[in-house]
Amino acid sequence: MSNNKRGILDMNAFDASSQESIASPLLKRRTDNIGAASVLFYKKPIEMVSARGCWMTDVAGERYLDFYNNVPSVGHCHPHVTAAITQQLETLNTNSRYLSEITESYLEKLKSTLPPELKNVVMTCSGSEANDLAMRIAKTNTGSQGFIVTATAYHGNTEYVTQVSPSALKHGVCPDYVVTIPEPGSAAYGDDIEAGFNQAVSGAIALLTDRGYGVAALLCDSIFSSDGVFSDPAGFLKSAVDTVHRAGGLYIADEVQPGFGRTGDCFWGFQRHGVVPDMVTMGKPMGNGFPVAALVVKPDLLQNFCDDVGYFNTFGGTPVAAAAAMAVMEVIEQEGLQQNAKTIGLYLRQQLTLLSKTDKRIGEIRGAGLFIGLDLCDPGTGEPAAQLAIQVINGLRDEKVLIGAAGPYGHTLKIRPPLCLNQKEADFFIDAIKKVLERLAN
Ligand code: PMP
Repeated sequence: MSNNKRGILDMNAFDASSQESIASPLLKRRTDNIGAASVLFYKKPIEMVSARGCWMTDVAGERYLDFYNNVPSVGHCHPHVTAAITQQLETLNTNSRYLSEITESYLEKLKSTLPPELKNVVMTCSGSEANDLAMRIAKTNTGSQGFIVTATAYHGNTEYVTQVSPSALKHGVCPDYVVTIPEPGSAAYGDDIEAGFNQAVSGAIALLTDRGYGVAALLCDSIFSSDGVFSDPAGFLKSAVDTVHRAGGLYIADEVQPGFGRTGDCFWGFQRHGVVPDMVTMGKPMGNGFPVAALVVKPDLLQNFCDDVGYFNTFGGTPVAAAAAMAVMEVIEQEGLQQNAKTIGLYLRQQLTLLSKTDKRIGEIRGAGLFIGLDLCDPGTGEPAAQLAIQVINGLRDEKVLIGAAGPYGHTLKIRPPLCLNQKEADFFIDAIKKVLERLAN
């Protein structure tokens, strides 16, 4: 078993240099056009042609249950979202320098889900842009430069945000002004995750202070997705956030993955921890695939930043972006998707826990709502089993389920279907994973 720290995307991606399946003309065109930046899921890539609800259909007409993608969170190609985008696109689409009823209505709706301290919203086109801006605001307001993130975090693709995304750094380590701490799980901190995580944050602050940077912010994905999904016990973030605040730093909640009801208990991941962030960033499911993202921030922090530099984002916060995002909110409410995430998520965890009782290759199962991490391990040693994860991912593809993995070794299955998943679909997945694990045992 190899436990190197290569990302699962790398390990399970199509390898153009192998020439193995370059027979496909579309694949050749893609490789010619995109070159080294082309990363495709699976050794044998799939050409998708349509999707609806939790299902995607490929060019041969095969249907796949999507357990991978948390962007089409209210269901692929949801008709209400499509209609809202189309109608607004036919009416007006311009930049955010004009007054716009739909935009203000949306922002008021969004803010009604958030703590009242967070009064201002800056709309962007990607989670990366939102995090980049949050980091700059933290730096300006604290006068400090240091950031604390978890060891396998991902926060985006700009230069600044890549520096706090250790999972994206293939060779190097984070720069000196970034201190990484272990993911908040029992492997790193034993039984008292809150105390252990808090201690790690205190240590990071001391290090940043020693190095002369001070602490600008603790930046955490509220469900630690790329670290391998760490959700419990709810409330464990509280001490660490207090510690950062006492040291003069800010707390940025990255809700790009857990936001918009996915965790079931709450609309936002940080709310499970009973903390109030200074800034919240969001994206992915916000427009169900339409590129809309945002930073929500305390007004004084934004004011201080804007006194210093301007911020404008041409495609951020257009009326079409607002219409898409508003329609997503409406669907979540009208279809009770947060509650569904809670109910079906619990059902999935119960079924997986049952399975783990008889299969020692299944280690910890963590998560909240429809955001579940399942560790695959060597049954003898309990060590992370990354190769097994790849086999399971490809086996599930044969069973028509799409799924990915996370964590430092890529051995944590990341279970993240659309929030409209029903019990029949949950059972389809459970049957499929049972079959795959059985097959791999023989
Ligand atoms: N934060 C987290 C936690 C993410 O998972 C991602 C995207 N995977 C981002 C930020 C960046 O978002 P985007 O790709 O929209 O720039």
